[in-house]
Amino acid sequence: MSDQKELSDISWKAFNALSLKEKGDYFRADGHTLIAQQFSRGQLEALCTLATRIKRINKRREGANFLKTLLSDKRAMLYFAQPSSRTYLSFNAACQILGLDTMDVRDTATSSEVKGESAEDTLRTFSSYADMIIMRHPAGGFAERVAWMMAHTKREIPVLNAGSGADQHPTQALLDVYTLARSFEKTGGIDGKHIIFVGDLLRGRTVRSLAWMLTLYKDVTLYFVAPDSLQIGQDILDLLDQAGTKYVVSQDFASVMPIADAIYMTRIQDEWDVEGEARTTDSSDFRIGAEHMDIIKDTAVIMHPLPRRKEISTEIDNEPRAVYWRQMRNGMWIRAALILSTFGREDEVNQYYDDYKPVA
Ligand code: ASP
Repeated sequence: MSDQKELSDISWKAFNALSLKEKGDYFRADGHTLIAQQFSRGQLEALCTLATRIKRINKRREGANFLKTLLSDKRAMLYFAQPSSRTYLSFNAACQILGLDTMDVRDTATSSEVKGESAEDTLRTFSSYADMIIMRHPAGGFAERVAWMMAHTKREIPVLNAGSGADQHPTQALLDVYTLARSFEKTGGIDGKHIIFVGDLLRGRTVRSLAWMLTLYKDVTLYFVAPDSLQIGQDILDLLDQAGTKYVVSQDFASVMPIADAIYMTRIQDEWDVEGEARTTDSSDFRIGAEHMDIIKDTAVIMHPLPRRKEISTEIDNEPRAVYWRQMRNGMWIRAALILSTFGREDEVNQYYDDYKPVA
């Protein structure tokens, strides 16, 4: 009997009681990308390699034309029930690179949800027209529910989570890992690095997903620098403890700046503030600007999932250590790699790459 875990074999209640790692086994088996915890280091490395190959092949017209044939038999539905420009466009561009047609709903006010249809029924409807759903939703865990529902309606198409609630943003974490891996290519990779997260760590889903992915690397130390009211959740610290990853929780940005190999800035996520208990606090100590450039290492990188507010001064935008614009562009390549491998078509790229050896 196969020990393959399939969502169609488990009730929602039993599924919900599983740990994130256990859930990850189900998602992986069914081809979904829903949580950071479903990835292994080997998979991350394979995706990074594939992303770079796609990027190099795409540089030449013949290569770009070849890539466009790879998924020309597929259609993706982009369902974004929360504001997005970068992630939406980056997924859309990734689909275009691979010749995958896209359809979208970006405003639920234009769907039958206004007639009282549940979001689940809406997504079930969309799944009839598409071979993949790429979705963003304000409710944490909703993408998981959709994947489970697909399995139980026998419409088993992959679901990619493009951001869920304040909880998970696994494809942002993929592009962050890709950016870190490329930035540290000549300095021993991600292993052993000191990575500092700054800002709204409580509600920043990108940090929550990335922090977990970094547990897959050896001897990294993570620093969480935030005002008390916006500090990283205990659930993430528990996961780091279980993984044996070292971390430091602090409010003192200046004291850790000099040891950073990467500084990952985030904005205050005040869209999650609840009336009467607004958590938005003075964040002026949690910003980086030209006056800090002498303190941080020459080899360090400054990252941000964007959009930014004032936490990174525009004065440092042309600083070689500021990699946030490159980081954003990396999203398109790693998402193309993810989509291609979700459909199991990566061998065609690898074969093309070996045959034509496109230059860097
Ligand atoms: N773009 C990221 C997200 O969707 C970060 C942010 O919005 O601050 O979570």
